Amino acid sequence: MKLTIYKEYGFCWGVKRAVEKAEGVLKDKKSGYILGEIIHNPLTNKRLSKKGLKIVNSVEEVPPGSDFFYPSHGISKGNEKIAKDRKLKKHSLVCPFVINIEKLAREYEKKGYDIVVYGDKDHTEIKSLISRVKNYHIVMTKSDIGKLPKLKKILFISQSTQNKEKYYELFTELSKKANWEELVGKFTICNITFERQDWLMEHIEKFDYFIVMGGLNSSNTRKLYEIIENFKKDGIFIEEYSDKIWDKLKKYENIAIISGTSTPKDVVDDCVEKIKGRVEKNGNKININYA
Ligand code: SF4
Repeated sequence: MKLTIYKEYGFCWGVKRAVEKAEGVLKDKKSGYILGEIIHNPLTNKRLSKKGLKIVNSVEEVPPGSDFFYPSHGISKGNEKIAKDRKLKKHSLVCPFVINIEKLAREYEKKGYDIVVYGDKDHTEIKSLISRVKNYHIVMTKSDIGKLPKLKKILFISQSTQNKEKYYELFTELSKKANWEELVGKFTICNITFERQDWLMEHIEKFDYFIVMGGLNSSNTRKLYEIIENFKKDGIFIEEYSDKIWDKLKKYENIAIISGTSTPKDVVDDCVEKIKGRVEKNGNKININYA
């Protein structure tokens, strides 16, 4: 068996920064609260919960005066206000990349633009973004673009973890509707996210099976899996290795592993070791490489 691991694996710098910052505070304070998950990876969330991190679904659940973390992909203005009113001690883990997208949207809105954003309305990042601008429209599909009202000036941006190809597809669709005075596209997909997508697209025909690793609710990891589905390739989306996946992949000869930006490095390493163990146990050879 040949097993290739996309060499850029493990946390992106934004997630690494968030996790290390939270660990630093928890070491000192022994407990703290976060609205939703710190990152979309259950294994990391479990590890941090052992260090005292408690996940809440609303800011009202946090006892007044407690230490409170803003998650890496943002928090809405309304929730920020509640946190302030409850005198919570703020520790922002919001990725600078996400903050920059919010700044860009605010700047353009001030100049009279409507903000059209390609993103998931239920994702924290989009909830945070739309709480900071008034004139916004969320789109996910070409048909959403068809339903836009008549607008004058548009800034088209994206959630940081969306799909690069789709961003351009939607931008093209927007540009076909010639009823705006001005259309400005700013490519705001995080480079770490799209570099993984690019690698996958470039190498998609080289492999006969793909293992996509990451939290099942992780937006950027799901986008990787969607690429595999769109190309009708065989593959699996998993959070960690389990013997169940062995049955599926043992018949393939040329396998690739790619992971999301919030997938811990040791989870991927563990998966590689376990696959190697199974192959060798069966008396076969495995060739592992990082590309
Ligand atoms: S994926 Fe990009 S935007 Fe998200 S935390 Fe990582 S560096 Fe920041």
